[in-house]
Amino acid sequence: MGYIPPVARHLYVHVPFCVRRCSYCDFSIAVRKHVPGSAYVEAVLAELRSADPGPAARGEPLDTLYLGTPSLLPAPDLARLLTSLLDAFRSTLSLDAVEVTLEANPEDVTPANATAWRSAGVNRVSLGAQSFDDGVLKWMHRSHDAARIGAAVGTLRAAGIHNISLDLIFALPEELERDWKRDVEMAISLLPSHISLYGLTVEPRTPLDRWISRGATQLPADDRYAEEYLLAHEKLSAAGFAFYEVSNAAQDGFRSRHNSAYWSGRSYLGLGPAAHSFDGTTRRWNISAWEAYRRAIAEGRSPIESEELLTPEQQELERMYLALRTTEGLSITALYRPLPPVTAQWLERGWVVEAGGRLKCSPEGWLRLDELVAKLFVAKELAI
Ligand code: SF4
Repeated sequence: MGYIPPVARHLYVHVPFCVRRCSYCDFSIAVRKHVPGSAYVEAVLAELRSADPGPAARGEPLDTLYLGTPSLLPAPDLARLLTSLLDAFRSTLSLDAVEVTLEANPEDVTPANATAWRSAGVNRVSLGAQSFDDGVLKWMHRSHDAARIGAAVGTLRAAGIHNISLDLIFALPEELERDWKRDVEMAISLLPSHISLYGLTVEPRTPLDRWISRGATQLPADDRYAEEYLLAHEKLSAAGFAFYEVSNAAQDGFRSRHNSAYWSGRSYLGLGPAAHSFDGTTRRWNISAWEAYRRAIAEGRSPIESEELLTPEQQELERMYLALRTTEGLSITALYRPLPPVTAQWLERGWVVEAGGRLKCSPEGWLRLDELVAKLFVAKELAI
């Protein structure tokens, strides 16, 4: 029915329930006051059972397991889900061998939940902080206020979860008068091990999209996006964080193993509505609406909505893009020698550096990542 890449060591499970839709969010979510936790867990485990080729064909135990989006799943259901998944993949929680990340919203981090998450095996929490300004949080339709963020971090630590990542959104509309420097400093003051930055984007059919269409708000100019991005680099680097990817900075030893697997092009398996899987050449994705996904599973049909076989050109483009997103950069193999003339200008402007046989973006380069990759790809194709 479903599909498991034979050597997937990275598992993503999409939990679709949220109490309301944030103003910028286009994720596949089901807005629910009462979460059908047990029905959800049954459906995901049925998807796994129906597709599972058995331990011998499945390869190595899991390396990472990521539960997104957030933390509304009742703790007993989450515990049952995690135990069953780790069992199915012959994975052990001893010494936290598997990186188990839970995306959580600050308002869901209660002492009881945090303790239950930790005992179920969660050892990393990615907290949707977004801003420390109550006006901004309200505009975003978030259900927490700024005070909840610090409280959530303290609660997680008290429950034994010390690997904590904070998400922040930057480049907000001018009229919010958001103090980005203050927000970055507030985040740093909580001593997280990891920080992820997201520039606000307008996705179709979101409340933000509607506000912009009727002229009620507008996104800031590109130069403010760049200023805020570079300011975050400066502040986070001074506080001991190292950017290891265009949007992610970590203290030493706290890079996200799960996301790093995506960026290095490894296979992964996705379960749940809207989840994607990848086996190195083919990407598959599940039906996104919760009810339709649940029905497909209940009726014994495949929840896979569609799949895409990447052509060699697409694979190459993706490889270049993913490599340049990270600080590892792109290996300059014989394929790229001599470097296309366009790179001379980038090297001169400091957008990229060449080190150890690799081409790496600087923060200024990351601001132009799409353009750089597109030009490099075209130059390489023309050279063949
Ligand atoms: S909490 Fe996350 S997934 Fe849910 S609506 Fe907000 S941004 Fe979307």
